[in-house]
Amino acid sequence: MITGGTGYIGAWIVKMLLEKSYTVRMTVRNKAKKEKYEKLEQLQEQLPGKLEIWEADLLKEGSYDGAAKGADAIIHVASPFILRFKDAKKDLLDPALLGTRNVLNAATRSGTVKKVVLTSSVAAVFGDNIDMAEQGLNEFTEQHFNTTSSAKHQPYSYSKIIAEKEAWSIAKQQNSWKLVVINPSFVLGPALNGSSDSESLNFMKDILKGRFFFGAPDLMFGFVDVRDVARAHIVALEKEDADGRHILAVKTMSIMDLTNMMKKMYGSKYKLPLMKAPKPLLMLIGGLFGVTPKFVKRNVGHKIRLNTTRSTEKLGLQYRNMEETILEMVEQMHKQKLV
Ligand code: NAP
Repeated sequence: MITGGTGYIGAWIVKMLLEKSYTVRMTVRNKAKKEKYEKLEQLQEQLPGKLEIWEADLLKEGSYDGAAKGADAIIHVASPFILRFKDAKKDLLDPALLGTRNVLNAATRSGTVKKVVLTSSVAAVFGDNIDMAEQGLNEFTEQHFNTTSSAKHQPYSYSKIIAEKEAWSIAKQQNSWKLVVINPSFVLGPALNGSSDSESLNFMKDILKGRFFFGAPDLMFGFVDVRDVARAHIVALEKEDADGRHILAVKTMSIMDLTNMMKKMYGSKYKLPLMKAPKPLLMLIGGLFGVTPKFVKRNVGHKIRLNTTRSTEKLGLQYRNMEETILEMVEQMHKQKLV
């Protein structure tokens, strides 16, 4: 059973499972919204696996019990990845926390589920980029948990901490299934389904539409290809001895480094940033872009390093290079008329 299969990352996981002949029970919020999953149904016709669509909502207690009963494993991907919202509790925290509780309790009640793979994030590992220096670290590893985000400051990151911690706590209270957690950094790469609200797609749309033309913030992220993220979930599911958390990133770079790389690939085809935006200016006008002065202060200009050894050694992941990821993402966005 998989949750979040209509989303950017989830759709790739569903496709890979179908390629591997699995019967996939994909839960959707509303079965009537066929446009969210018809592409996957079409794909299934050419693939050896079987796709079943079940209805369930993160906020409806017990709604995953039907789909979980009889399933061997659950991949829990669904959770809002949005940075523009009205009410943090209602739009982000509740679906993340109550959803995790709901899905994992369904795993326990099923009597058949032996493994649960959870999509967490590096946002559950650290909050602000300054955390690394403040905590006297040279890098972030799977041992670290984000201690600086809250419902008010970086609520998306906070939603990922409370959801992952809840998952570990529920996992400890039972012994019928094992939990494996995937912690991707910022995900890029082609979308199978252009209708997703994922910030991954918004971020690339913003870059291509010239939103950072007069200056990009000196903001560092880890990046990873969506297909590598999907593969990590499949290995976590299939490998008997997979356990614990796994940070995923092929590279850590700033938005400016990323767009400079794109300048080499595309020349002047897009309105890519002319320069780095000065931090004092961002403190002043960040609000226009939806970021607070505190966010700017604690993130802009601060370096991060991510240790990804577990992903390569335990999951055997071989990362795609970023140029390929960008090329295929941009090409796909044109095909889907997103830019
Ligand atoms: P996405 O495309 O927006 O997918 C989110 C999925 O969650 C969608 O399938 C959505 O269903 C589902 N969902 C949201 N609220 C729900 C609810 N109340 N009930 C049932 N389903 C609900 O985002 P994504 O980028 O693929 O993110 C998927 C997961 O990866 C999230 O857990 C996110 O935190 C994590 N992650 C993402 C990144 C990244 O850079 N993209 C990085 C690290 C971790 P609908 O189609 O019905 O809206």
